[in-house]
Amino acid sequence: MDKTFKVKENPELGRYGVAAKDLKAGEMLFEEKPFAIGPKVENPPVCLECCCPVDGGVTGPKCSHCGWPLCEECVSKQDDIVYHKKECALFVKHKVKFQNVEDSTASCIQLDCITPLRVLLEKESHPDRWNDEISVMEYHHDVRKDSMTWNADQNNVVAYLRGPCGLEDRFSEELIQQVIGILEVNAFEARTCNGYAVRGLYPKLAIMAHSCVPNVVHSIHPSHEYRLIARTAIDVPEGEKLYTSYTYTLSGTSTRQQALKYGKYFSCRCARCLDPTELGTHFSSLKCQKCDNGLIESLDPLNDEADWKCTHCDFNTKGALVQKAVNVMQTELDELAYMEYGPERLENFERVFKKYKSVLHPLHFINTSIRHSLIELYGRIPGYEMQELPDILLERKVDLCRDIMKVLNVFEPGKSRARAMILYEIHAPLVLLAQSAYTRGNLAGVPLKEELKKAAALLEECGGILEWEDPSSPEGILANVVKQSLVQLKNSMQALG
Ligand SMILES: [Zn+2]
Ligand SMILES: [Zn+2]
Ligand SMILES: [Zn+2]
Ligand SMILES: [Zn+2]
Repeated sequence: MDKTFKVKENPELGRYGVAAKDLKAGEMLFEEKPFAIGPKVENPPVCLECCCPVDGGVTGPKCSHCGWPLCEECVSKQDDIVYHKKECALFVKHKVKFQNVEDSTASCIQLDCITPLRVLLEKESHPDRWNDEISVMEYHHDVRKDSMTWNADQNNVVAYLRGPCGLEDRFSEELIQQVIGILEVNAFEARTCNGYAVRGLYPKLAIMAHSCVPNVVHSIHPSHEYRLIARTAIDVPEGEKLYTSYTYTLSGTSTRQQALKYGKYFSCRCARCLDPTELGTHFSSLKCQKCDNGLIESLDPLNDEADWKCTHCDFNTKGALVQKAVNVMQTELDELAYMEYGPERLENFERVFKKYKSVLHPLHFINTSIRHSLIELYGRIPGYEMQELPDILLERKVDLCRDIMKVLNVFEPGKSRARAMILYEIHAPLVLLAQSAYTRGNLAGVPLKEELKKAAALLEECGGILEWEDPSSPEGILANVVKQSLVQLKNSMQALG
């Protein structure tokens, strides 16, 4: 394979990648195995092999060698253990015991040492890869040293590994803190085959700079040793920077900035962050209550203290007040998230959506989040199953999807998983609407076929993106469903002549 990207360096970004040639949307950039993979920080007890949640109490399942948590399934294939193997031997040798926990839903700090330990042990077995790819990673030593977590890490991880685990002569305090920092700044979230979150150190992906509008997408394959494949989401001309996102793209600028500042120790200055309209989407804008068409936007999106001002009249207000109002709405939404999946949940999300209509810009992130909750419900819960939805609710679902798409086309353009999921959601109501029009005698022949063609095109685009996912993941499973639906749809189109 030709070289797809070059590594460059500057003081602002550190190391970053640029396209080494003109790259087409969907082109493979690189493939890599993680240096190490393991539980996230502050995780409740998990199986140290497959990372599924386990009961960390006295009666919970444990590794028969070292006594640390392993789920029953992994205990039963104890001879084939991969991820837990090295630390298991260490725990056995130094008789390091797992302290049973009372509450298996609370974070289990004993496990915070596991992923750093895996990185350290891997460093010993693969010193070349450590030197070339890991030791060069940013870890923001100076900022971290003054952070709250430093002392906690010093006790829970550094002292623990060098004390009870007997690693005093193998790993220095500085090295262990460096590894913790490297993980904090560079690790990416991956999902296990069962969908549980873990973190992995992917050196090549970590070279890519961050942007709140990424042009690189990646898929991680838990059933192939968590192999990662990175691709371009859109066409990227030679020399252009390659960007991945270290944060959730569907949160507003203030939330993204906070996450990057406290989690990754930098402030993003991408075009989206600098623009109060977030590239024309008005993703964080409120409607002005003092005039007709005004929008209230921050005068300096990178500063939470800055005033917010109306685009049409003189109205202005403190950033803190806007934040407070948004927090109230967010809390109301968070409470709905606990509701059972049923008609009441759907009706409540619709109620809240109406309630904020006069306050929020239509594409505001809160509205976008409500839309996501709604499209998940329309067509999937009793009383609102796809086949029984009246045209008006089918159209409602299509509209909700199209509005989410307006945002995604800007923030996650091209061949992104997020877009693929929405494409899938739109296709079914479109097919049903066409069928319903046909039944009423309003649509037939060529125009009917045209409608079905549109739905097929959406499915085709969706399938082209989801086929990159691990077949065992929810997205990978959906990719298969998409293939089958496409065959069916093409058959019915053929039947129309
Ligand atoms: Zn397991
Ligand atoms: Zn063990
Ligand atoms: Zn940004
Ligand atoms: Zn106004």
